[in-house]
Amino acid sequence: MPASSKNIVVIGAGLGGLTSALIMASEGHKVSILERNSIPGGKCSQIEEKGYRFDTGPSVLTMMETIEEVFSYAAKPLESYLEFTSMDPLCHYWDRDLQLGSSSEPSFVNYADLQKTLDEVSRVAPNDVQGFQRLIDLSADLYRKTNATFIRNPLARAKDLKGLPLLDLLDIEAFSSVSKVVDKHVDSPFLRKFFKRFTTYNGSSPFLAPGTLHVIPHVELTLGAWYIMGGLFQLVKALEKACLELGVHIYYDHDVEQIHTKHQHVVEVSTSSQSFPADVVLSNADSIDLPIRLASQSVTQREKRSALKQQPSSSGFVLLLGTNKSWDHLGHHNIFFSRDYAREFDEIFTQGVYPTDPTIYISNTSVSDPSDAPKGGSNLFVLVNVPPLLEHTLGRQTESESDRSSYAEAIISHLESRGLRGLRESIEVQHIHTPVHYFNTYRSNRGAIYGTSSNSRWAAFLRPRNVHPRFKNLYRVGGSTHPGGGIPLVLQSALNATSLALDRL
Ligand SMILES: Cc1cc2nc3c(=O)[nH]c(=O)nc-3n(C[C@H](O)[C@H](O)[C@H](O)COP(=O)(O)OP(=O)(O)OC[C@H]3O[C@@H](n4cnc5c(N)ncnc54)[C@H](O)[C@@H]3O)c2cc1C
Repeated sequence: MPASSKNIVVIGAGLGGLTSALIMASEGHKVSILERNSIPGGKCSQIEEKGYRFDTGPSVLTMMETIEEVFSYAAKPLESYLEFTSMDPLCHYWDRDLQLGSSSEPSFVNYADLQKTLDEVSRVAPNDVQGFQRLIDLSADLYRKTNATFIRNPLARAKDLKGLPLLDLLDIEAFSSVSKVVDKHVDSPFLRKFFKRFTTYNGSSPFLAPGTLHVIPHVELTLGAWYIMGGLFQLVKALEKACLELGVHIYYDHDVEQIHTKHQHVVEVSTSSQSFPADVVLSNADSIDLPIRLASQSVTQREKRSALKQQPSSSGFVLLLGTNKSWDHLGHHNIFFSRDYAREFDEIFTQGVYPTDPTIYISNTSVSDPSDAPKGGSNLFVLVNVPPLLEHTLGRQTESESDRSSYAEAIISHLESRGLRGLRESIEVQHIHTPVHYFNTYRSNRGAIYGTSSNSRWAAFLRPRNVHPRFKNLYRVGGSTHPGGGIPLVLQSALNATSLALDRL
């Protein structure tokens, strides 16, 4: 331990908290993580039952360079912790407008090789090949313009904003929407949905989010996607292991109830039975919980009101289905598109109701890792985007069991009609997760799964910054903070926050 070693307290062992702890410990500080649940990972979790293994949260892993950067702080090389496999095809798509006869074959396959995907485009929409290529190029251009200036920039001081291409907001499509950008380049209703879907990767609507979010396709379609053998939860286990190797103390079943402050500094963090003195606090709790609950005695009413105005991202209705059957035409990642995308997003984000004809995503990881399901079976992670809960509450929320079951039944029937014949009778294991689960288990604001949404032009700039504006030694990490939700951005929030914290120390 260096003489200048400080007491660092991290609230929450989600991906943001674990990454922050790893980096601070690698610099020789004494780090403690306090986690309310009995396992790490937060929303990136796993269930194993009767030989089926399900990741319960993230399934698409992108931006490998961020993971490499994070593990450069670990004691050992990344390869000694994790085994990655790159995804090809990237995704199988079913679209009723393209479906030929009663075939259960996918309507479109998105390959890692762009030329093979362009061949698919020329098969389903020959007039849109050039438009497809233009959208790929535009996405790469947006990535180039926003990665260093926005995503990797903590935006902590006013001068950090100067790097942003303020005069270039037109140039990054900030005044348009994703939907308008896409519609300008392709006519095929299927290809329009194909590109718009990427906006859901940060829980937003392509019809409301600024065109800048058309940056996301580049990340998957050009930079690639990966799976981790044993499930994406292995990323959590690897981070936990790397933290323990560097001497981090992890306290599970420790629900932080209060952050104590003195003279614009946090001095202590407490659970109902224990206090932890702190020189620096990194909070991985949902950013709304700081002003509303954890530091409620130290903040102004104005701060509380502005926190409550943060618009949460979409939530998820998730079915985990262990089936004793497999379907040859299912890939690892699969999308069954709704007919009317505009109506679906209107239901989610304007009406606040579960979509009547939802787009359904299925992750079937046993295609890549047969040990994820018993021989001949499948471990289906079925996700439908749904609205977050209507209101923020302090206490636990409840829901009607019959509403949950009837929506689950509707999804299963729908999938049977789209080619997964015999699905219902093959189910041996079933779990249902809803927005109430995400709120009660991880205290995510209104059960959102990606933190805050980007459903307005300025939302991306208004996310809570990685350093608290008033408490000089309080840092915020995770999907509800800058730069946003999803694994790579959450890891980036921890890289941003720790670089600021280490600078100040
Ligand atoms: C169904 C689903 C699908 C997803 N799909 C993808 C995907 O394909 N790709 C992708 O990149 N991302 C995906 N995501 C999003 C991704 O999982 C999240 O962005 C990321 O895991 C969030 O990490 P975090 O550290 O911000 O927060 P969390 O995971 O919420 O971690 C916060 C931790 O803090 C703990 N905590 C909170 N309050 C307290 C307190 N007061 N005291 C102690 N502990 C506390 C919580 O228990 C939790 O462990 C998905 C998420 C879900 C749920």
